Amino acid sequence: SFENVGFIGLGNMGSRMANNLLKAGYKMTVHDVNCNVMKKYSDMGVSTKQTPFEVAEASDVVITMLPSSSHVLNVYNGPDGLLQGGDLLTPQLFIDSSTVDPQTSRKLAVSVSNCILKEKKENWENPVMLDAPVSGGVVAAEAGSLTFMVGGSEDVYLAAKSLLLSMGKNAIFCGGPGNGSVAKICNNLAMAISMLGLSEALALGQSLGITASTLTKIFNSSSARCKKSGGGARICSIMLKYAQCDSDSYNPVPGVMQGVPSSRNYSGGFASKLMSPTLTLDFNFPISGFPLDLSEDGNIFILTMQAKDLNLAAASAEEVGQRCPLTFLAQNIYTEICNDGHETEDFSCVFQHYYSGKSE
Ligand code: NAD
Repeated sequence: SFENVGFIGLGNMGSRMANNLLKAGYKMTVHDVNCNVMKKYSDMGVSTKQTPFEVAEASDVVITMLPSSSHVLNVYNGPDGLLQGGDLLTPQLFIDSSTVDPQTSRKLAVSVSNCILKEKKENWENPVMLDAPVSGGVVAAEAGSLTFMVGGSEDVYLAAKSLLLSMGKNAIFCGGPGNGSVAKICNNLAMAISMLGLSEALALGQSLGITASTLTKIFNSSSARCKKSGGGARICSIMLKYAQCDSDSYNPVPGVMQGVPSSRNYSGGFASKLMSPTLTLDFNFPISGFPLDLSEDGNIFILTMQAKDLNLAAASAEEVGQRCPLTFLAQNIYTEICNDGHETEDFSCVFQHYYSGKSE
């Protein structure tokens, strides 16, 4: 069990995760490059430090929740970074919950395991690392109902489980180092592509004369509902479980379902531009200020940041020489809808890319 928890990256997700750890009674030490955020925490009586290294010095476990791979590498390996102690580290465990490419997670896991613990703790010979990216977005981070996809050693995952479950409702072991990151980017890839398939089928149906509601009813009780098909390798079922873009949970046709982006002109969801490969993302967009007021258009933040995941998937596929034709097609289509001026709308507006007739 861990008593002293360090937390680095107190943005939209991290601040809420850290708050849940505080509520659960962990002794926290935190760091963020944003001084305003640091002040909020010191005003709350939480110990704040100027560098990742100082956080490490005060912690048994350090969690990072940063925008992207370059930030994570900087926090670990940079000057005053978490591993600056070189071969003598205080924390026995490092958990990175940022969404990064699996190669980065794997490299970091090796760097961490090459270090030595300052004080040996029972059953822990060397410091270790887990990659544990999350699904669920800001609302789930606030509610403590995130799903963690965990890569690393299974024993370490089991030791960290109760800590993770203070921030989430699910923690799923995905295999060795980097496999949490694999699950995360594949999840988002499956989500992006299944939204295209669903939209294309609903558009064809309407063009051939059936209403989207009737077709949705059929899909919901028929084989189009691919998450029901189950089976396959474990990693695939994990992916399908968390990649639900189905007709009964995220319908892209206006008027068919309440409470989804299509029912409010595609606002408040996962902005299409975040799916597009050609746009450079400012990872602090559209976030300004802290803390967020969730009552005001909070939904807009739910899925942002997962954005870059389509690019991560494409780059990772190329790196390992895996054929992924639909990934590249999906990138082209999402880019096209952005160029057509829909870049801030939810990605389910891709339905309109296929169908320009009147929906019910
Ligand atoms: P964010 O931009 O709101 O927060 C990132 C925080 O990290 C900021 O407070 C920033 O100041 C801090 N930071 C940046 N560089 C730093 C450094 N070198 N040292 C210390 N602090 C630094 O991002 P977020 O929405 O909280 O997302 C964090 C991660 O979670 C991303 O990898 C994202 O892909 C992933 N994610 C986000 C969501 C979502 O809906 N927002 C959902 C799932 C996963």
